[in-house]
Amino acid sequence: MAAGADTGFSTRQVHAGAATAQASPRATPIYLTAGFTFSDLDESAAHFGEGTGFGYSRTGNPTVHAVEERLASLEGGDQAVLVSSGQAAVTVALLALAGAGDHVVVSEHIYEGTRGLLLDNLARLGVETTFVDTDDLDAWRAAITPRTRALFAETLSNARNDVLDVAAVAAIGAAQGIPLVVDSTFTTPYLLRPIEHGAAVVVHSASKFLAGQGAVLGGVIVDDGRFDAAASGHRFAHLVQTDRLGGASYAEKYGARARGQYIRESVAPRFGPSPSPLNAFLIGQGIETLSLRVERQSQNALAVARWLEQRPEVERVDYIGLDSHPHHGLGERYLTRGFGSVFTVTLRGGLEAARHVVQSVEVITHMTHLGDVRSLVLHPQSTSHAARTVAERERAGVFPGTIRLSIGIEDIDDLLADLEQALVRVPVLERETVVL
Ligand SMILES: *Cc1c(COP(=O)(O)O)cnc(C)c1O
Repeated sequence: MAAGADTGFSTRQVHAGAATAQASPRATPIYLTAGFTFSDLDESAAHFGEGTGFGYSRTGNPTVHAVEERLASLEGGDQAVLVSSGQAAVTVALLALAGAGDHVVVSEHIYEGTRGLLLDNLARLGVETTFVDTDDLDAWRAAITPRTRALFAETLSNARNDVLDVAAVAAIGAAQGIPLVVDSTFTTPYLLRPIEHGAAVVVHSASKFLAGQGAVLGGVIVDDGRFDAAASGHRFAHLVQTDRLGGASYAEKYGARARGQYIRESVAPRFGPSPSPLNAFLIGQGIETLSLRVERQSQNALAVARWLEQRPEVERVDYIGLDSHPHHGLGERYLTRGFGSVFTVTLRGGLEAARHVVQSVEVITHMTHLGDVRSLVLHPQSTSHAARTVAERERAGVFPGTIRLSIGIEDIDDLLADLEQALVRVPVLERETVVL
């Protein structure tokens, strides 16, 4: 850009020195820019016409793109779309499939934000939800109607650590041309890659294990690139019909990648939850240590869960890694590298015992969040699950004495010592007199 000494002060303050230095950075550069220059008219026309290159950061950004490529590879998917939060990822995935008059079948054990999205927001847009018991394959099958556009569940649920039988539920959907969308936040691609078991779309809150250090929010939608227009076209008219101007449909243009491209070109950029390139960079940095963190977190969580299970103050521990968990066998089948780091513990002393523990821990932090390098604790009944009825909470394994732990990478002895000092002074009631 010409900003020589002959140009004015105001011109130089925006143009001088702006030329990009050519270098080959080893770390992914942060392209913190709203848009990208076009070298000529043909380049800009090709960008708008065929989507080549980069034009504006809401539709594509090199830093964001690098993280998308990394996540698509780790998930074994065809392509990934990074968005600004996990909630945005769930919203974009569902809006890419369902519209007014449509229907989705959803596991009843899901993240409260997603439950609210379905019950309040998508309901108001005319998308109806049927909730089913995650384990009940007949219920999944029976809930499907001609308007069903997606099955949705979490791989490992909060609070009871139920494991989704991904292959079984995916097969029920596939038999009728309906994709299984899974929220794999708790398992990460290191522990489980749902696409390998038949899921069509995977979403994550990247704010959790992927970023890993609790600094930024982000979300991702990974598509498997296996859209089958012959089997599913009757449910997804927007993917198989000619476009608004009479041009080729997504399926004609992109074949098996139609759904992923629709998410990337139409839904994510129009609803607009674009990730900041800076946040994308931090998520990309986090992913570089994902396997090390999740391996250590899973080891620590298993040790903490086993220790807690032996304590007299503890009524039950719902951790998929324990033999006592009803889904342990299913967990072993799907989670061969570890069982994750998030689980619940129910104390015999009820609410007062839970209050005492969350207020007494010193190494473990009392806050809402999970998947952090730091260990965290929260009381679900009064926080994440407060909007549910007592019966719904009990079905989810949430009682007045239940606390949720997200175990971090600290030294295990320090975590056990912290829990020990919090538990020794806890009000203990006998099992017979416990008020849950
Ligand atoms: C946190 C979380 C979300 C929402 O993600 P945000 O990044 O907080 O918007 C969705 N699903 C699950 C399972 C989560 O834990």
